[in-house]
Amino acid sequence: MARAIANELERAVTTSAFVRDLMAEVKAKNPAEPEFHQAVQEVVESLDLVLERRPEYRSARILERMVEPERVLMFRVPWQDDQGRVQINRGFRIEMNSSIGPYKGGLRFHASVNLGILKFLAFEQVLKNSLTTLPMGGAKGGSEFDPKGKSDNEVMRFCQSFMTELYRHIGPNTDVPAGDIGVGGREIGFLFGQYKRLRNEFTGVLTGKGLHWGGSLIRPEATGYGAVYFASEMLATRGQTLEGKVCLVSGSGNVAQYTVEKLLQLGARPVTLSDSDGFIYDEAGITPEKLAFVMTLKNVRRGRIREYADRFKGVVFTPADPRADHNPLWDRPAQCAFPSATQNEVNATDAANLLRNGVFVVSEGANMPTVLDGVRQFLDAKILYGPAKAANAGGVATSGLEMSQNSMRLTWTREEVDDRLHKIMRAIHANCRETAETFGTPGNYVHGANIGGFLKVADAMMDQGLV
Ligand code: NDP
Repeated sequence: MARAIANELERAVTTSAFVRDLMAEVKAKNPAEPEFHQAVQEVVESLDLVLERRPEYRSARILERMVEPERVLMFRVPWQDDQGRVQINRGFRIEMNSSIGPYKGGLRFHASVNLGILKFLAFEQVLKNSLTTLPMGGAKGGSEFDPKGKSDNEVMRFCQSFMTELYRHIGPNTDVPAGDIGVGGREIGFLFGQYKRLRNEFTGVLTGKGLHWGGSLIRPEATGYGAVYFASEMLATRGQTLEGKVCLVSGSGNVAQYTVEKLLQLGARPVTLSDSDGFIYDEAGITPEKLAFVMTLKNVRRGRIREYADRFKGVVFTPADPRADHNPLWDRPAQCAFPSATQNEVNATDAANLLRNGVFVVSEGANMPTVLDGVRQFLDAKILYGPAKAANAGGVATSGLEMSQNSMRLTWTREEVDDRLHKIMRAIHANCRETAETFGTPGNYVHGANIGGFLKVADAMMDQGLV
């Protein structure tokens, strides 16, 4: 018995040393990419538990291979603005892992985009796509081009130039991009149009397409709806529902809008929304009519969230303060939080404020919105914490459903797609919960998601040999 415990301890110590060494190597090989380091760190900490039980993954160096993208594309994107001036941006596509299906993942157009951010997103995407139960590998791409303040014609010229390089690397059985921050229906339309023109073929090479040209019902809603379904599943484990719960939501784009819509359908009270200029606090609650205003404001007029406070009584707008050490949006009394804007938007102080104010459900719509210290606080407090790669997987899952409909050349009804989305979110929740239990950390959805996503990809890599 004592010998067995000693062996177990020895293995744990060696494995932790392995994680330490791996992280040192990742940092040395990928300098100045803190978001990528952060994403890998969180995952390898969970995988410590797996590597103890499955040493064959270590000898096949599965993790070392997974942190190295299969392919990185970087290219020049020249275009002309409305004044006829030449503009030059940089385009990227990170094809991270194709062991369980064609590469799949969004394109992000935002001034903050760089190689490290896209590598973190692509790495997360591999495990997330594996969790969806659908056959999709992982990728991510984009540009530091910022569509904010650009005319439709400028956005079109940029998208056409971007696709003029990207088209040769993607295809319905190779790599199928989608939207992300700054890439919505308008951008997907321009990208698809140029791909079709260059290839002379009409195929499902992008998801998030318009309904009349290959898109799927519920795709725009899917990420937000999915994050709310995931929260409902977590609450059900404690015999509770979202009915009457006060909810903090950040962002006011695609994910935030449909998170609010589903929360309203389930009887919750969402009270905040934000953009990079600040946030609104509507204590009385956002209603369907107010949400319709936000959708027109953001998707048609492309305005700023502060206009919500000008339009509706009793609403407070707080401007963003770049010098502040925390975000006051996360310092309001509530039971649930849905970070739906961007990475690292919940820092350690924000996490502490959320817990102090009574939040016991966090379901992440954005990718990696919580810093590592914040994640540890949520886990220590044993709240219902749904990490992004599980909670926001509904978007890519529905992209997978769009790909299936394109291949079969048919269209499912709204109810059918929503029902499939709901079932997938239930399956992801069950997988995370059961995996966490199997590996001795019940209730820890971080371990559940990381290990659950990893196992399928790792086994496929083992089966396919050294490629
Ligand atoms: P949108 O571009 O539609 O909206 C993004 C929102 O977040 C905007 O309100 C934007 O404000 C705000 N935001 C973005 N960057 C920052 C920043 N640095 N600081 C403050 N606010 C910021 O994007 P989505 O809603 O599609 O994406 C939101 C998050 O969800 C991202 O993390 C994305 O990766 C993730 N996600 C999206 C999926 C999808 O299907 N769309 C799928 C899975 C995850 P502003 O307009 O001022 O920039």
